[in-house]
Amino acid sequence: MASLVEVIFLGTGTSGGVPNVSCLTDPAQSCGVCLSAVTDQGRKNMRKNTSLIVRFRAPGESSSARIRNILIDCGKTFYESAIQLFPRYGIRELDAVILTHGHADACYGLDDLRQWTLNGAIQNRIDIYLAPETMDTVETTFPFLVDAKNATGGGDVATFKYHIFKEDAPFSINGLEFMPLPVHHGIYFTTSKPYFCYGFNFGGVSYISDTNFIPNDTKARMKGKTDILIIDCLRVGATHPSHFGLEDSLKTAREFKPAKTYLVGFAHRTDHYQLEEGLKSLEKDEQLRIMPAFDGLRVGLQDEKMITESSWIDPERTVILK
Ligand SMILES: [Zn+2]
Ligand SMILES: [Zn+2]
Repeated sequence: MASLVEVIFLGTGTSGGVPNVSCLTDPAQSCGVCLSAVTDQGRKNMRKNTSLIVRFRAPGESSSARIRNILIDCGKTFYESAIQLFPRYGIRELDAVILTHGHADACYGLDDLRQWTLNGAIQNRIDIYLAPETMDTVETTFPFLVDAKNATGGGDVATFKYHIFKEDAPFSINGLEFMPLPVHHGIYFTTSKPYFCYGFNFGGVSYISDTNFIPNDTKARMKGKTDILIIDCLRVGATHPSHFGLEDSLKTAREFKPAKTYLVGFAHRTDHYQLEEGLKSLEKDEQLRIMPAFDGLRVGLQDEKMITESSWIDPERTVILK
């Protein structure tokens, strides 16, 4: 069995990221969250596209072997996040990339992965795991990343190997098993049918970055296997047509009772610090440990009895007994 070492939140924001330029240039200066995001004290309000690094040891590999790295989603702001966090956290090789869906904040950073594979700079190729409909989007958006013959100019494009997963079957990467968690993420405007995004359950973690509705079949896959819940939360308030609001995220946490829940996917106007403070009472009142994640948060999962939280922003480590 593969063993999880840690997960690192590369980004925790919605597609546009936070701050919004329109708020920074607003003569009325009315959005305190965006204004604070560019200050040292408000750093946790600076949010890039939601994305996670999963770090683990493959079966049979010793503790001195390189820790495996899987990137979930490679959106518009991936490269900036990598510049900021990869050197800090000792991340270099990417053993795989998993895509949750075909929106810009999940896959428009794929082109930047050429820095990994050009002339084998870090590695010869990257394995990409994705659903059939996400493959269609990648083929339309980046034809040269599917077949290098479609490239122009110098032809310096990334080298990928694509693996299409089935929505109802687990797949394994270096011994770590991922079970897809299909969830609704708004609709197709042409047909009004639900547009699906894929969360994943792996090693006791359920990760759902973008959803407005979790079907019962998907909930059945999470039951009894969700020690850590990472869940969409666009804003404090009601459900959005394609995203959870805080009430939905809380309802899901209450349903699965994980040891800890981390919220991701925030738009602007939700202040990290206020929300974190506001959620603290839930631990006392109903043993619900829940907090907004932030870019750079690292959650250590090696010990069954505790979770360790740290980041380059917070020097101290918080240890939580399960
Ligand atoms: Zn704003
Ligand atoms: Zn999306």
